Amino acid sequence: MSESYLHFLYQFQYFDKTNLQTTDNEFVEIIKIGRLNADSGADFQDARIFIGNIEWVGSVEVHLKSSDWDIHKHQNDASYQNVILHLVWEDDKPILRKDGTRIPTLTLCNRADKKLLQKYQSMMDSNAEMPCQNQFMEVDDIRKLSMLDKVLMKRLEDKSLIINQFLKDNNADWEETSYQVLAKNFGFKLNAEPFLSLAKNLPLKILQKHRNNLSQIEALIFGVAGFLQNEKNDLETWDEYRLNLRKEFQFLASKYQLQDKMLGQHEWKYLRLRPANFPTVRLAQFACFIHENANLFSVLIHLEDVKIFAKILKVKQSEYWMEHYVFGKKSEGKVPTMGSASVENVVINTVVPLLVAYANQKDNREYLEKAIKLLEELPAEENNITNHWKSMGLIVKSAFDSQASIEWFNHFCLPKKCLSCNVGVDILRR
Ligand code: SF4
Repeated sequence: MSESYLHFLYQFQYFDKTNLQTTDNEFVEIIKIGRLNADSGADFQDARIFIGNIEWVGSVEVHLKSSDWDIHKHQNDASYQNVILHLVWEDDKPILRKDGTRIPTLTLCNRADKKLLQKYQSMMDSNAEMPCQNQFMEVDDIRKLSMLDKVLMKRLEDKSLIINQFLKDNNADWEETSYQVLAKNFGFKLNAEPFLSLAKNLPLKILQKHRNNLSQIEALIFGVAGFLQNEKNDLETWDEYRLNLRKEFQFLASKYQLQDKMLGQHEWKYLRLRPANFPTVRLAQFACFIHENANLFSVLIHLEDVKIFAKILKVKQSEYWMEHYVFGKKSEGKVPTMGSASVENVVINTVVPLLVAYANQKDNREYLEKAIKLLEELPAEENNITNHWKSMGLIVKSAFDSQASIEWFNHFCLPKKCLSCNVGVDILRR
């Protein structure tokens, strides 16, 4: 038994309403259940309920035991003073308002459907990865689609909150924020943190001053990334390209006081990465992207479709990095430029969140629609979660579907929030 199950019973009125009475034997009729409240304050707001012969308008608070009211210290909280009904599984203590009057209490333990409770309990006790996996296919597609919509919006909102934090740290500078978010994304999972530290230590404003000179941009990026420090005392083995970058960086580092902003080479990870994803190659591609698109935010926010994004993001690294995966060692074949999957990843994790955050800040749905359109145009990501959904019969065609299904699985299925899921509610209501 959980409080969320009691919310479910009250929200869908799944209890015996014959001769509904409070624990003080007062007549109860629920006219309007109220609105489920996810914020602080009572659980359901703006309910309309007849108690005795008076119609009350106010909140409904739900607890397993009436004594939880005191345990949660609601007696001292002003936002609970308008509670008109205390809905509990078990009444183990009379609860009083500040003025000494008793809060009308309705108990559900003798009114709930036992079969429904068993059904719920068996879902919660299930060891399966998805407690509903045997019934999932029986649920109408429309419920699944509306769940995908709901969870995608939640995912986008959460990502937009992260952008807001970046914006706050960057004094509302969208260009600097876009640069940092993009840098983090260029590092993908393994090197996201050092890429982000690099972007924070090397402001876009400095790079923009050298936007027409790719060598200087590379010197700044590889220099702050720590690759131009003579950590192993092996300068004599360095090739001309690296020595030139080092010379350039020494000058620029003193000009912009970057000497104490450098990362250590050990911060960059290579483990299990394909050479095309080595941080050195990614840094070279990032340098090219900045060289070609110095006004990042304007570029990212105003592009219309995925094809143009792909064209802009598929930057070709400088000549040296077309033949090297790391400094000083010529590759056997040509080093590839950014692949389609990497480009799609950047659109999903950088461009879309920026558009949503911008839409929220400007209160302009146009950018939100653009973000959704981009997700609909991109193919679905392939991973264990999306494959699992496909095996359950869910259609996962676009990035919209894959992003939503990842959110759904991680934030609803894994923590067993089946009562907040359209599919779970449908299964229980049958
Ligand atoms: S959250 Fe929904 S889809 Fe996931 S296991 Fe529960 S009922 Fe099934």
